[in-house]
This record gives sequence, C-alpha cells and structure tokens, in this order.
Amino acid sequence: MASRCWRWWGWSAWPRTRPPPAGSTPSFRHHLSTQEKTPQICVVGSGPAGFYTAQHLLKQHPQAHVDIYEKQPVPFGLVRFGVAPDHPEVKNVINTFTQTAHSGRCAFWGNVEVGRDVTVPELREAYHAVVLSYGAEDHRALEIPGEELPGVCSARAFVGWYNGLPENRELEPDLSCDTAVILGQGNVALDVARILLTPPEHLEALLLCQRTDITKAALGVLRQSRVKTVWLVGRRGPLQVAFTIKELREMIQLPGARPILDPADFLGLQDKIKEVPRPRKRLTELLLRTATEKPGPEEAARWASASRAWGLRFFRSPQQVLPSPDGRRAAGVRLAVTRLEGVGEATRAVPTGDMEDLPCGLVLSSVGYKSRPVDPSVPFDSKLGVIPNVEGRVMDVPGLYCSGWVKRGPTGVIATTMTDSFLTGQMLLQDLKAGLLPSGPRPGYAAIQALLSSRGVRPVSFSDWEKLDAEEVARGQGTGKPREKLVDPQEMLRLLGH
Ligand code: FAD
Repeated sequence: MASRCWRWWGWSAWPRTRPPPAGSTPSFRHHLSTQEKTPQICVVGSGPAGFYTAQHLLKQHPQAHVDIYEKQPVPFGLVRFGVAPDHPEVKNVINTFTQTAHSGRCAFWGNVEVGRDVTVPELREAYHAVVLSYGAEDHRALEIPGEELPGVCSARAFVGWYNGLPENRELEPDLSCDTAVILGQGNVALDVARILLTPPEHLEALLLCQRTDITKAALGVLRQSRVKTVWLVGRRGPLQVAFTIKELREMIQLPGARPILDPADFLGLQDKIKEVPRPRKRLTELLLRTATEKPGPEEAARWASASRAWGLRFFRSPQQVLPSPDGRRAAGVRLAVTRLEGVGEATRAVPTGDMEDLPCGLVLSSVGYKSRPVDPSVPFDSKLGVIPNVEGRVMDVPGLYCSGWVKRGPTGVIATTMTDSFLTGQMLLQDLKAGLLPSGPRPGYAAIQALLSSRGVRPVSFSDWEKLDAEEVARGQGTGKPREKLVDPQEMLRLLGH
C-alpha cells in the first residue's frame, strides 16, 4: 500500500531536505509528480481554522483539491455558534469562507462526524494529507462540589443556546432569579453578561434594524428574565483580566446597566500599569477610571437611572456551589478570598483563608475550553487539551496536520486563528514540495463517499447549506431578523429531502 512507504518515518527521522527514500523507483517519482499536481487534501472542521487553512492551500497551490468535513449540517463553527448575536459585523468573515467554498477545487461535506462516521485512518488512506481543525468543544469543569445542581451551566452551553447550537437548543435556562454569577473574566463571560443584561427593548431595536440573529426561543426567555445583577468573578486582579477593551467599553456603555467596581481593588495599580504592554495598559486605565473617577454628567445620569448592574469581583476563587434550603438548585457560590503571589505572567492567586458567600440563582462557568480526542490513532495531550504538534505538523504522524484551537489551545480571536491556519497550510505545502507526503494518486471524496453511503450517512453539500441559508433568511424576514436559525438537525435534513 502506498502509505506504508512513508508511515514509519517520524518527522524527526525525516528532515525536510531529505530526498525520496533510498531505492525509490521511477514509479515513486512518477507518483510523486502526480500527487504534486493534484494533491487531495481534507480538512476536519469548518470553523475559521478549517476555512482559512483551505483558503491558503487553494490559493498557494493551483491544483490542490480540498474537502472540508463538518459534523454539523451547517458550516462556520463558532462564527455561527459562538460569536455574540449582537455582533453581526464579526460574522462578515462568512463571506470570505463562502468564496472559498465556491472554489471549483473545494467541497464542503456537513453532517459527517469524524471519529464516528469515518475514522482518521480512513481519511488518511483516501487523501494525501489530513488537517484536523475541529476546535475545542469541551468546557473546563469547575471541579467543585455542587457543580451538578440545577441552575449551574457552562457559559459555552448558554452561548450555544442563544446562538441556536443544536445540542444546546433545549437548555432553557431559568432566568427567574435576581442575580447571576459568571465564573471567569474573559470575553465569553462579558458576552454572556451583556446578553443577560441588555434591556428587552434594546434587543427589539436590534431586531428592527436586522442586527441580531439571536434565536426566537432565547429572545422569548430573555424578555421574561428577572436577572438584574450579574457578577463576574476572577481568581486574580484587574491586571489579569482576560477580556479586551472593546468588550469592556461595550459593557460600560450598556443601556440600562451600571458597573459596580470596588476602588479598593485598584489601589496601587496606577504605578504598576506603567510597566505593562500598551493594550493591557489601556484596558487597565479604563477599568481604573471607571472604578475610581466620577463619571461625566451624561454617564452619571444613565447609571443613576439604571435598573440593572454588573460587577467585577476580583481575588475570589470558587470553592462550592451552595444549594438552596431544599437542596434542589443552586442558591449561591462560596468563594475563597485570594491574594497574588509572583510577578508578571507567573502571578498566582493563593487563598488567604477567608471565605465569602455570594447569593445567586444562576451560575455560569466560563473558565476555558479544551479539545476532545477525535480518534485513538491521533496523538492527544489530554492535560493541555490539544494535539501535540510542531507548527501544525502533528508529532510523529507524517501527513497529518492541525490548525486553530485544537492546535494551539482555545485562546485568540478569529484573526489569530487565521494566521495560525495559514502557517499550517504553509507547512503542508512545504512538505508536499519536499516529497514528504504519500506518493501516488489518492481517491479523495470518492472513497469516503462510498464508506459514508455504506454507513447510512447522508452528507450535506455547500449548495445544500445554501438552501438552508435561504430558508433561514426567509423565516427571519417576518420578524425583521437577518435570519431565523434552524436549530433542529432533523428538520434541516428533512428540508433537504435527506
Ligand atoms: P471552531 O470555530 O470551534 O470550529 C471547529 C469546527 O469543527 C466546528 O464547526 C465543529 O462543529 C467542527 N467539529 C468538531 N468536531 C468535529 C468532528 N469530530 N468532525 C467534524 N467536524 C467537527 N473571535 C472573534 O474574533 N470575535 C468574536 O466576537 C468572538 N466571539 C467568540 C465567542 C465565543 C463564545 C467563543 C467560544 C469564541 C469566540 N471567538 C471570537 C473566538 C473564535 O470563535 C475562535 O478563535 C475560532 O472560532 C476558532 O476556530 P476553530 O476553527 O479552531 O474552532
């Protein structure tokens, strides 16, 4: 089998400059030129990493063919299911991804879960190279008592719910409480706080100008919400928050809501920020001003009349979710008070021994994500939750690559993911040029289609997605939304006649 001749060469064992293996025959060279002419490449996952990797490969190699496999019937990953529904401009990257999908050398195959419907070894047999770009779908657990109580859920699931992610569509969070606590101080935490506190009339206004694709069900629940206060809890201090200035500014300007910041948390910070990098400095200055300076007349009037509030609770580490008296749901969070030890990036929060209880009816954990192993044949670092790799080349598995959050961990925005996906694409093409990928023609989708068909899997093509897209847009028109998302995969497949 063609792949045997290269499978045993580890990356370390085969320097990129090395010529074809000794004893390689003219037919090896012939095959090499065939695959160099029309390399069949597949990408697993259709989020930004998948699409940007495909874009790079198609642009830089005039003959490469790229198939993108996606487990959802619809493309675009977190751009559809993560990015906040009131940030439509961020979703414009979908236009670029659509252009890529329209290339005659690219195909999208949704409704195909790699690891379940088809294995990675099967893909590797069918393609010259496989790129894993399947993101980081698991949330990190809090690992504290009470985490399983009703009223506790991951911020990721909450985001999935308001964004129409099929597996979260039935979450229906109970928003009948007065106070919600979000554990974490990153951009996802701020997104969730903003959606929870945006006044219903403001959401209606967004609807009217076609600026939100929040699901109908989520909007209904949010309209009835009684949540008035949202606390965002962090183990460390203002200098360590993980959110960015744009999202903070949006929070400070949120209609009908005022910030609660304790000036004591900011003592001595003015001197410390002189040494920090500029983006962190600007962010901390904004926090500091908001916490310690008198607001201007307009802001003061807005905050005085605000019926909702959000606050940052620093130096607190969650120890337990407290049950209600009948033990049936969450009623608060027990927090250990912390102080900082160490300097710079190594700053750690250590408990002081003091405890504090924060009453609330809803607890959302937003302490990070990790990837899942997709197939036993693929190396996986379960501690870091990533695929071990060097610049996108999966360690010890020639012909296998990774990009995006599964490659570098769940941090960074779409632009960061673009850069790292282009880099993976570049490494793959370098290896292709150096003759390091399997020789001979590969069947690509033809072989996988036969496997999927024998297993009763009906893939969704990009033109199928465009039919679903048109249906969503049509359903949105009645309500003034850019689209009303389909949230049930069975309904999607029915609409396609699958
Ligand atoms: P993903 O976008 O998660 O894509 C992975 C894809 O792989 C998914 O479509 C998934 O369904 C698919 N998949 C998973 N497993 C399989 C499998 N076994 N088989 C086939 N397919 C599979 N960045 C910004 O720049 N602006 C923002 O406003 C912003 N908001 C965000 C909000 C949230 C809640 C989150 C979590 C992130 C946000 N980000 C934002 C970050 C941005 O979404 C990520 O940088 C980017 O999506 C990572 O891309 P990815 O392709 O690695 O992962």
